[in-house]
Amino acid sequence: MVPEKIADVSLENILQIFTLPEKPDSTLAKMEKQISEDRNLFFSEHIISQKKTLNDMEQDFSNSAIPEQPEFISKHAQHLLDALVAHSAYTSSPSFVGHMTSALPYFLMSLSKIMIALNQNLVKIETSKAFTPLERQVLGMLHRLIYSKNETFYSKRMHNSKYSLGAFCSGGTIANITALWVARNNALKAQGNFTGIEKEGLFRAIQYYGYSGLAVLVSERAHYSLKKAADILGIGQEGLVMIKTDSDHRIDCIDLQNKITTLRTKKVKPFAIIGIAGTTETGNIDPLTELAAICRKENCHFHVDAAWGGATLMSNNHRHLLDGIELADSVTIDAHKQLYIPIGVGMVLFKKPDITNSIEYHAQYVLRKGSKDLGTRTLEGSRSGIVMLVYASMHIIGRLGYELLIDQSIEKAEHFASLINQQSDFELLSQPELCLLTYRYIPHRIQKILSMASEKEIIEINALINELTKFIQKRQRDIGKSFVSRTKLNPVKWKRIEIVAFRVVLANPLTTLDILKDILIEQRKIALQDAKLNARIRSLF
Ligand SMILES: *Cc1c(COP(=O)(O)O)cnc(C)c1O
Repeated sequence: MVPEKIADVSLENILQIFTLPEKPDSTLAKMEKQISEDRNLFFSEHIISQKKTLNDMEQDFSNSAIPEQPEFISKHAQHLLDALVAHSAYTSSPSFVGHMTSALPYFLMSLSKIMIALNQNLVKIETSKAFTPLERQVLGMLHRLIYSKNETFYSKRMHNSKYSLGAFCSGGTIANITALWVARNNALKAQGNFTGIEKEGLFRAIQYYGYSGLAVLVSERAHYSLKKAADILGIGQEGLVMIKTDSDHRIDCIDLQNKITTLRTKKVKPFAIIGIAGTTETGNIDPLTELAAICRKENCHFHVDAAWGGATLMSNNHRHLLDGIELADSVTIDAHKQLYIPIGVGMVLFKKPDITNSIEYHAQYVLRKGSKDLGTRTLEGSRSGIVMLVYASMHIIGRLGYELLIDQSIEKAEHFASLINQQSDFELLSQPELCLLTYRYIPHRIQKILSMASEKEIIEINALINELTKFIQKRQRDIGKSFVSRTKLNPVKWKRIEIVAFRVVLANPLTTLDILKDILIEQRKIALQDAKLNARIRSLF
């Protein structure tokens, strides 16, 4: 056996990786060139759609020891291509319409490289310089998109160390946590001989204020990040009170009022109410104006989780869907969703730019009081300069470009919904408000049985249809040509029994109606393959 050539261990070689760029004919440089020239070609050549089980992939990544010996970059690049790229999710494929992670514009790949080369740290000015004012400006842009304050408002506050219009973070989860952190600290702020929750902690705070607990209210369609927030903020998952939704998956304001009353009789303080602007499962939007009025009356912080739907504000044709968002004390928007920025960037924006004083932190060596360091009011410490990509996209795509993207995605969802409605063997489960919709397949003969079934039978039959929906979704994913996701709903139409649904997110601008037609055809075909289930359905009735 010829011994494998291995890289020498020498400081000189290690220093070279800091000083020498990849040669143009190296494996890595060639990979990079191909991906920059034609991403789809590269992916279709290198991402293998055939299924490799998760178990098999785990075997590829089973060694827990850090490699002793340095490896040649070319050899490792090939390994990455074979073991990792080959089995990555093809998120940019126009027929993968099941997730919120879409294709990206090409220019962002080049900019990302520059961003990484610059390696700025936004925690403090010393390591970010121009990036700090840049981030403050972009926060100003998003703030203005939501709250439409006048020119003077922004010129006075955007770069003022006493204020922050919002915060950048790694995603919607951290944005939601930050918003509720601010809300909690303001609800339990210093007063009399109490020096504030941030100093004395939750236990002493609720003792001082005489509460028996704290609560945040949100609809049952809430994103699970809010449960994490409730846990971290010390109110517990049970402190996140879930409110019923109506037939359009929107919060039921009467149930909300009733729950608030019940909490108050138990001396539980509801300190925040959350409206969802684009639920993760169905894309529906809560009645924000109505929620704002309830918050005002109940003296609650009003947070809007617009992680998904916030970008709709870019379209003058559709921003009215989010009417009332301008009344929110805080708003979460994910840039890595409908603003088409790579994962991980989210933002939280605050109506009153001094509200974050309740979470202001200072360290002696950095983040001095009065400094403009962004790290004084962010949950995260070191953060990347990814704001550069948001800034560039705002310029290169522009509001009008985003408007086109938003409009086409909503239009496409409407077309797909009417296409589903035209199929007698598919059932639309949620009418799209944004570019999300849910539906399922029900074979004709089952529909007939359903129409004559008793209540008990309806439950049994739907349980079988749920199995079928799961089967179709899994099989379609495994075939690998297309991907829709699935979720569980409790539609009013089906008397709130649990219904498994296909979930489609039409954010990828390259997805066409023909692709969607093919997805339905494939699903219908797969349904016939479920022999076991088909037999069970026959035997039941
Ligand atoms: C995606 C999403 C989140 C969480 O955002 P991450 O960026 O995944 O942390 C929160 N709320 C809603 C409504 C979302 O769609």
